[in-house]
Amino acid sequence: MYHDEAADAVLKTLDTSETGLSSGEAENRLEKYGKNELKEEEKTSAVKLFLSQFKSFLILILIVAALFSAFLGELVDALVILFTVFLAGVLGFVQEYRAEESIKLLKSLTSPEALVVRDGKEVKVPSSLLVPGDILILQAGDRIPADARLLEAQSLKIDESSLTGESVPVEKSIKILLPETPQPDRKNMAYTGTSVTYGRGKAVITATGMSTAFGKLAGLLGEIERERTPLQEKLDQFGRWLGAATLIVVAFVAVLGIFKGFDPFEMFLWGVALAVAAIPEALPAVVTVGLALGVRRMVKRHALVRKLPSVETLGSTNIICTDKTGTLTQNKMTVEKVYVNGTMLSVTGNGYEPVGDFFKEGQPVSEDIHLHKLLVTGALCNDAGLVEEEGIGDIIGDPTEGALVVAAAKKGIWRPDLELGHRRIGEVPFSSERKMMTTLNASEEGLYAYSKGAPEVILGCCTKIFLGGQEKELTPEIRKEILDTVNEMANQTLRVMGFAYRQVPENIVPENAEREMVFAGLMGMRDPPREEVKVAIATCTDAGIRTVMITGDHKTTAFAIAREIGIYREGDLVLTGTELDALGDKEFEDMVEKVSVYARVYPEHKLKVVNALKKKGYIVAMTGDGVNDAPALKAADMGIAMGITGTEVSKEASSMILTDDNFASIVSAVEEGRNILKNIKNFIAYGLTCHIGVVLIVLVGVLAWQILPVIAVQILWINLITDGLPPMALSLEAPDRGLMKQKPRKSTEGLVSRRMLIASLGLGALIAVQSLGVLSWALEEGMPLPKIQTLIFTLVVISLMFNAFNWRSDRLSVFSLGIFTNWPLIYAILSTVLLQLAAIYVPVLQTAFRTVPLSLSDWGMIIPLASTTLIVMEVVKYLERRAHR
Ligand code: ATP
Repeated sequence: MYHDEAADAVLKTLDTSETGLSSGEAENRLEKYGKNELKEEEKTSAVKLFLSQFKSFLILILIVAALFSAFLGELVDALVILFTVFLAGVLGFVQEYRAEESIKLLKSLTSPEALVVRDGKEVKVPSSLLVPGDILILQAGDRIPADARLLEAQSLKIDESSLTGESVPVEKSIKILLPETPQPDRKNMAYTGTSVTYGRGKAVITATGMSTAFGKLAGLLGEIERERTPLQEKLDQFGRWLGAATLIVVAFVAVLGIFKGFDPFEMFLWGVALAVAAIPEALPAVVTVGLALGVRRMVKRHALVRKLPSVETLGSTNIICTDKTGTLTQNKMTVEKVYVNGTMLSVTGNGYEPVGDFFKEGQPVSEDIHLHKLLVTGALCNDAGLVEEEGIGDIIGDPTEGALVVAAAKKGIWRPDLELGHRRIGEVPFSSERKMMTTLNASEEGLYAYSKGAPEVILGCCTKIFLGGQEKELTPEIRKEILDTVNEMANQTLRVMGFAYRQVPENIVPENAEREMVFAGLMGMRDPPREEVKVAIATCTDAGIRTVMITGDHKTTAFAIAREIGIYREGDLVLTGTELDALGDKEFEDMVEKVSVYARVYPEHKLKVVNALKKKGYIVAMTGDGVNDAPALKAADMGIAMGITGTEVSKEASSMILTDDNFASIVSAVEEGRNILKNIKNFIAYGLTCHIGVVLIVLVGVLAWQILPVIAVQILWINLITDGLPPMALSLEAPDRGLMKQKPRKSTEGLVSRRMLIASLGLGALIAVQSLGVLSWALEEGMPLPKIQTLIFTLVVISLMFNAFNWRSDRLSVFSLGIFTNWPLIYAILSTVLLQLAAIYVPVLQTAFRTVPLSLSDWGMIIPLASTTLIVMEVVKYLERRAHR
């Protein structure tokens, strides 16, 4: 189908035309054919997610324990246990549901787009909204979003390895084929899931979604896998280990208790509760939420993380390799200098406004055939267009090309008019490898080839030069003079391009036009650094992260800009792609740490740099936008693609996408990444304190006094409220000022550092010592057991609330952070305290938790005691900071 028909016939069958569908018709068709998506397995429903909360081993034991209690007539206990189980389930559900939503949001934000013609205009639409009959515009780096019949193919090559396994890209054409041509040989078709590696094309969509060849092949696509991060893995391991250890201890103590004369059922309940208290079963969910919430914050700062593990990688990144054009610079090009006929001209005007003039030594240049030829070459060998946006001149297409269109317009040469008389009949597209581009244009004067590109590449195609009104021989002296001029312009941070033309015979293959050309001149354009970049690079330096520039641009331009923005520092090395090729792997590895600028590189050099740096132990972040950057993006620890200018292929290969293409956003993302890790560690430490405290209290209580300082339902309660809201609030803690002054975290570093482990153990012990002190004192006073248990129960909960403040930062004082700078935490603590008050003052809950009301004087003891958790840690932090200074 379709491949054996003429393009016109296909358009007719699909009831469309080259000017595309109207948006109304597209909507109708979307209704008829459905979204252009491969069906995924049904997502876990909310109910399923809720029920899955009760699948954990511990929860099952609790349910058994509840049934057991009911059976023994302890209805209140049974109800309390079931209620806590239910609450824990709700809490787990809410957390996982939020995490799930965040991941869905990310997926929708990173969904691919395609360029189509609708209502006669080229527009970008989400690929899922494409319908049969849509006209697709294809460019190098595009992922083919649906099956399509080609209408135009300019040197179009498509990598079909995902479909056929054949890794060599297929050269496409629009010729009609025989009906029996097998699918892999249908050169006039483009198939879903393949990608454009070179050239340009236009195609009409013939099938979408599950009707495409890929859809049929793939059948039902599995649910997108949710990758777990190394941290989550470690946490799981840790949890399992802790679980096993706890069970052994609990079993031991329970048996001991029974021997000492405790009621076996009570010991069973107590053992279950203690196991629940000791095992941080809620932590993995909280960590997922922490990651997911952080990822949401990153979205606001223009970084879309595609995979959760990348968040951790970001926190450990210690080198960022970045492109120059558009990432470090604004990608707003303006031609400022022009070199023609052996003289330098300056150009006035701002931005893409086609207003300005050409000056030679301060005098306006009127008519000049050399300048005219140069501007015409730049305008014809070009795909950009000039538009007016709200009264201001703007361009569509590549900014480098846009600048040339604007420069020509300043001399009254308008590209659309020019094209009318110089019809393009062929082209060799630009690629980062070739670093030049050529078009063939037919006019009344005959057929001409026009080329532009990197000056040395263009010079390499030239044997003549347009000088003094004549085409003269390009002598080595003139060549040298031109190269010197290039250097001089590049030194002024200008991006320099060379231009050439040539009359060619009819029927020439476009590639063959790129020799014996006539050199027309140079243009130098200004592409100012982004304003925020200098600060961002300085922040990186402070944070122990090196920044390296890798650019296709000229060595001198790259060097001049790198120096201006602080990437290049005295003593650093600058390497070109050619120099890099001359180095052996070992030799390069030895010097790689000194290089801060790579210029005139090809995409494959990026891979070499990534590999060398990784060998040296760096955690490498690497940016890329082109189709051939994909291998380097994949090889890097953190592949970063450009959201605006990046190709679909590069986005798919990346772990993060910058929605504003801005280097500074990488640095923001690193900061967020570090912050997430910091928060996760902090709430793990907070949780540890709680768990250790409770376990110690109960163990020692039973062993030393043969008394249960807190009963089973109280332990469950403590566990529920301490694992509930405060950790969620801690995961919302904002980055603090010290964050980007520390060295990057080592990727091998454990969950929690030893320092933090000691601190949380110490705080847990402190809470235990105080509680046991209260126990011993109360026993001596002859207080009734329920009163003692209520005192300890409340003391633990309130201490833990003070402890929550401790873990807003492991180094900084809460008072320097500002007590009211994390409102969610304040709310979390207030609600927890309210719940605790309810547990001891509301009569029903008193029965349930076996509590008695506390008096004012009891509180007078509890609050000062509980606050020592905060005071002690503040003192430790203070001493540490002083020692540090
Ligand atoms: P970066 O790699 O930092 O994004 P870049 O844009 O200079 O920088 P490439 O796109 O690989 O890198 O371009 C390499 C060189 O090719 C440029 O320095 C320029 O001389 C030339 N060039 C860029 N765009 C075009 C184009 N559209 N047509 C012809 N030549 C071009």
